[in-house]
Amino acid sequence: MTTAASLAAGDSHMAYLWLDKEIVPWESAVVHVSAVGHASVSSVFEGIKAYWNDEQQQLYIFRLDDHLKRLYDSLRVAELSSPYSRSDLTAAVIGLLVANEARADTYVRPWMYASGIIREHLVPSGAPTTCVIDTWPFTTGLGTRRTCRACVSSWVRIADNVMPPRLKTFSNYHNGRLGMLEAHRHGYDWPIFLNERGRVTEGPGACVFLCKDGRLVTPSLASNILDSITRRTILRLGVEQGIDVEEREVDRTELYTADELFFVGTGWEILPIGDIDGFALGDGEPGPITLLLDREYHRAVRGETDAHPEWLTPVWTDRQGAADQRAD
Ligand code: PMP
Repeated sequence: MTTAASLAAGDSHMAYLWLDKEIVPWESAVVHVSAVGHASVSSVFEGIKAYWNDEQQQLYIFRLDDHLKRLYDSLRVAELSSPYSRSDLTAAVIGLLVANEARADTYVRPWMYASGIIREHLVPSGAPTTCVIDTWPFTTGLGTRRTCRACVSSWVRIADNVMPPRLKTFSNYHNGRLGMLEAHRHGYDWPIFLNERGRVTEGPGACVFLCKDGRLVTPSLASNILDSITRRTILRLGVEQGIDVEEREVDRTELYTADELFFVGTGWEILPIGDIDGFALGDGEPGPITLLLDREYHRAVRGETDAHPEWLTPVWTDRQGAADQRAD
């Protein structure tokens, strides 16, 4: 649950961030106050995690290229321009983690916003952007058997022809925040939104899976959801574990009659739901399929399995190059 204390904890940061080709001290990355408000209307971003493998003394960025592809999809539809290619940003993320001497679980957030002083609310097509990449340490919830209490929100999820949830724009999070505030007012941790057809969509920062009679079910991509990288990962891991998976429209009552229910997302990882709208799921503890996927996801992100090398970008491959970059 978001509290003043957790917001204050979010103030922690690393020594450097990446700002338009430069690795700069975190404190020096400032903009004029006139540039922030309207620019954020059209900002796009990604939330990425890098996991530390102690045995291998290696930091692995999870599915970096998939996240960057989605960033460019968001830019394309928001009609913002970027001078950087995906490979520029890949190098930038790695260079920044090296500069910050990241040897622990680290969150990486690249974001792009219309540059300069913005007086026009409707940022014009092709507006140049500033790109920032920020990183900060996080504590994983994987393997902790935590649970949360969820509710179905009375706020309807934004639709593809309203404010497309497929784009990762900051402005979409206003819908998510309204749902979160309502959930907190009513004593729950997180909301799940329905779409305009009354079907299940997602939470404010994560997708949703349910388990019923041994099958794994998640709302289809046409339900008004983000095309979540974690959702794709869980679908793949589920198949590899021999579980039947279904992507389809999901009814509200399926949430109430599920055997297991959990959120998935880069930030939330696998977050089991103990009860929804007062309906307990099983005994309220994470169920067997949830725990199996939690374990497999943890192994995948930390590079403890050889099954998916294509998902992992190692950071500490060229220590000399890293030292050179810092000296620049
Ligand atoms: N839906 C929403 C609304 C989100 O903010 C997120 C977090 N990025 C997700 C789903 C999960 O997406 P991913 O697995 O790519 O982090």
